[in-house]
Amino acid sequence: MTIRIIGGGIIGMATAYHLSVRGERPVVYEIDRAYETASFARSCGGLRSQFSTPGNILMSRYSIEFIKATTDVPFTPNGYLLLFDESRRGDHDQTLALQQDLGASTRSLSPNELAQLFPDMHVGDLYRGCLTTDSSEGWIDPVVLHGWYRDQCRAAGVDIRYGDYRDDRFASSDTIIITAGFWTRDIACRFGVDVPVQGEKHTVFQVQTARPQLTDCPLVADLESGVYFRPEGNGYIAGYDGNNEGEAEDLEPNWPSWDQVWEKLYHRFPTLFDAARMTGAWAGYYDSSTLDQNAIIDCHDNIHVATGFTGRGLMHSPAVGLAVTEQVLGIAPSFDLSGYRLGRDPLQEKYVI
Ligand SMILES: Cc1cc2nc3c(=O)[nH]c(=O)nc-3n(C[C@H](O)[C@H](O)[C@H](O)COP(=O)(O)OP(=O)(O)OC[C@H]3O[C@@H](n4cnc5c(N)ncnc54)[C@H](O)[C@@H]3O)c2cc1C
Repeated sequence: MTIRIIGGGIIGMATAYHLSVRGERPVVYEIDRAYETASFARSCGGLRSQFSTPGNILMSRYSIEFIKATTDVPFTPNGYLLLFDESRRGDHDQTLALQQDLGASTRSLSPNELAQLFPDMHVGDLYRGCLTTDSSEGWIDPVVLHGWYRDQCRAAGVDIRYGDYRDDRFASSDTIIITAGFWTRDIACRFGVDVPVQGEKHTVFQVQTARPQLTDCPLVADLESGVYFRPEGNGYIAGYDGNNEGEAEDLEPNWPSWDQVWEKLYHRFPTLFDAARMTGAWAGYYDSSTLDQNAIIDCHDNIHVATGFTGRGLMHSPAVGLAVTEQVLGIAPSFDLSGYRLGRDPLQEKYVI
């Protein structure tokens, strides 16, 4: 039996890595050697445990520890700050308790405490903010993590082939793992498996401010407005969940939405973003499940699929690679995958950033 992985992005390479650690030598097929449209290479590199479902929190806890302890990928430990207005009081109270129960170090701050830490922030319309300050959340360079998996795989004898998997003859006894982002839908269809996932174009803007960068600034996600930003270089990058475009044909950034993004940044940090300039932008595909925006990890006979990670495929890649490996090899699972199965009841993740 040969294990064949179609899609050599971050999930495919993480899966090949975990398989190789267990003595397997899978073949990985990647259609694009330059990774021009792959989502991981266009991601913001964020790692966080602030989610609303136990599965996503536990996958983050495992994955962040794995990246810090097992790889040599540089990690910027500035944390995440999620901002809640009054309408999200219930979500805040419930998910803070859940995250803390599951071992996350999320702290909740009142508007006054937020204003002391971030004097430039407008806090008048906030209920509370959730922050980590113990280096448990932050960001990495996604391409460096992918390169780490790839190098480990090569050293272990994994066969990485650049080109079309259809050029090879597959035996009916082969195990097929499809980890091709939202393209998984079309590939899985060829193998008779229906995977409800689509590519949603998500734009990230590069921003320069006249004022110096905030010291040790976390990734700030304003749940009310849908805008997030974090430091990058000597400026910032910023995204907005209100400008995602479903089933986009191209990856041209959503330029006109900059005005809305700026207004929301200015609302929250008026003095910081007052004289801000947008200096560039890029866009990439969020691989989004059309069921409920939660990931899909499942198998049908010898066909395994892992996709639908929206804005968390990079950070969850260590856990997902392990989960798929255990599924393929029939090893006792480290994670409860019931919330990720194809036939599940919808399970909404509230914090899609
Ligand atoms: C703008 C943006 C910001 C993001 N920010 C974050 C973040 O901060 N943190 C986070 O965790 N996640 C983030 N994400 C999400 C994350 O990038 C994705 O969830 C993740 O990359 C999914 O990994 P993947 O391996 O499934 O897909 P991909 O990374 O897209 O890899 C799929 C691979 O399959 C290949 N492929 C396609 N068709 C075929 C075929 N026929 N044969 C062989 N290979 C094929 C592609 O070329 C590609 O290399 C972001 C995404 C975007 C777009």
